[in-house]
Amino acid sequence: MTSSARPFLNRRLAEFGTTIFAEMSALALTTGSINLGQGFPDTDGPEEIREAAVRALRDGRGNQYPPGPGVPELRTAIAAHQQRRYALSYDPDREVLVTAGATEAIAATLLALVEPGDEVIALEPYYDSYAACIAMAGGTRVPVTLRPHEGAFRLDLDELRAAVTPRTRLLLINTPHNPTGTVLTRDELTAIAQLAVERDLLVVTDEVYEHLVFDDAGHLPLASFPGMRERTVSIGSAGKTFSFTGWKVGWVTSTPDLVTAVRSAKQFLTYVASGPFQYAVAEALTLPDTYFDSFREDMRTKRDLLSAGLREAGFKVFEPSGTYFITTDIRPLGAALSKDGDGFAFCRALPERAGVVAIPNAVFYDHREEGAPFVRFAFCKQTDVLTEAVTRLKRLTT
Ligand code: PMP
Ligand code: GLN
Repeated sequence: MTSSARPFLNRRLAEFGTTIFAEMSALALTTGSINLGQGFPDTDGPEEIREAAVRALRDGRGNQYPPGPGVPELRTAIAAHQQRRYALSYDPDREVLVTAGATEAIAATLLALVEPGDEVIALEPYYDSYAACIAMAGGTRVPVTLRPHEGAFRLDLDELRAAVTPRTRLLLINTPHNPTGTVLTRDELTAIAQLAVERDLLVVTDEVYEHLVFDDAGHLPLASFPGMRERTVSIGSAGKTFSFTGWKVGWVTSTPDLVTAVRSAKQFLTYVASGPFQYAVAEALTLPDTYFDSFREDMRTKRDLLSAGLREAGFKVFEPSGTYFITTDIRPLGAALSKDGDGFAFCRALPERAGVVAIPNAVFYDHREEGAPFVRFAFCKQTDVLTEAVTRLKRLTT
């Protein structure tokens, strides 16, 4: 506190303490627990891509500030990836922007597009940086809650429609969805697109888990729906797809005007980042389909292992259609073990009781009571780590 007793942290950020990911990863370290909390893989991505980064460093590519929009090799590779996977065509020079991870893409997009007082609709539970960035931009978040229905968290389209007001600036959509693992269906995306066109809304779509869709339909980018190309800012990231979360290479694809707007904010955040890694990610994006297929199949096996184990341990499991997270309901464990369905209390006690760390989904809710009994486990870990975690969790009830 200063002498005037004014808190250091401004009012916009006062409600956001330390992120749950930092808190829970620190708890995992101090208690020596298996960390199924923060979503990062415990093995690095492809060796040849790591070598590509080493080569870039040695060759002096990217060791000084790269160009503001990102190195041309990477922008070209991003555009080619969108074309190859989704038949979406973007001009690498005017419609692609490289960012410091998807995190900066989200921040720059919201800071660029939102005026103080604008409403931003986000699917609840929402990834924690959305709320903080909407607040930093002076916007008002309007959550639309995904609710459990027949074993998955589903969007109520009527609720979404009802949430739009004359002050709504944009819809912030995340599919595949963290933390629930929900993948929006073609029908849902069609309805979202129609709503956006009808009400003339911008749409920001966070697609960092685009390569982790376990259904046959695969990933459907919102920008590919009728009327959406010109009003959608699509956000991607190399972190999850290539298992290099520390490299922090993300990107935005959109129209020249929207990309220019986002770049205006981005240039005053990091300006640029991750020089040599940008070259390596350019190579990664051109890996053959077999890489993406085997990455997804490997994660599917891990998903099946952990969800079966969690079920055996007594949790209700919401089988994810995408991402590398499983949301569970802890109430079937009983009132005593589940701390009366209080996911926070459960996750704080779990390292001591079972030597495992998980994330309480309540942190991703404005309506905390709606999220109280849900707890998220990450399965992007080695098989023996997941097996050991399951063994430990089963001991809770025996
Ligand atoms: N959006 C979602 C939904 C995420 O789960 C994450 C974490 N990977 C991010 C954005 C941030 O991605 P990055 O690590 O590329 O900043
Ligand atoms: N996206 C990761 C998760 O959801 C965490 C990233 C972070 O720590 N900010 O677990």
